[in-house]
Amino acid sequence: MNDCIKDISETIDKYYRRNRSLVDTMSKAQLSLEKTIRAITKAATHCGCIEFCAKKQPCGLDETVPVLSSGSLCTECSQEVEKELGQSAFYLISLMILLGYNPIEIIERENINVRLLGKFNLR
Ligand SMILES: [Zn+2]
Repeated sequence: MNDCIKDISETIDKYYRRNRSLVDTMSKAQLSLEKTIRAITKAATHCGCIEFCAKKQPCGLDETVPVLSSGSLCTECSQEVEKELGQSAFYLISLMILLGYNPIEIIERENINVRLLGKFNLR
């Protein structure tokens, strides 16, 4: 995983020059995440390959709620969601680089934080 993040970080640093502005990258990151959510929503509302219902989650820490109530992404929806997730990742990593962060360190630190709190992590 670290090699993959290192590779894309180097690629972004090398080739992401055209619109290398913080404001543009922030708005593209936001837009790409919106497109990702839209692609997942359309899988349920237009295609119908997945179904999910929104309801209050149980309070118990040991209880888990399935992500989808039924189905799995069809090939077309899966490809669209994957494409949008890739672009979202690209712009998030671009933001980290533009702001001088090391994406690998950020992800590793976040992983440690989540592991420290374990199931008491309230995200
Ligand atoms: Zn579908």
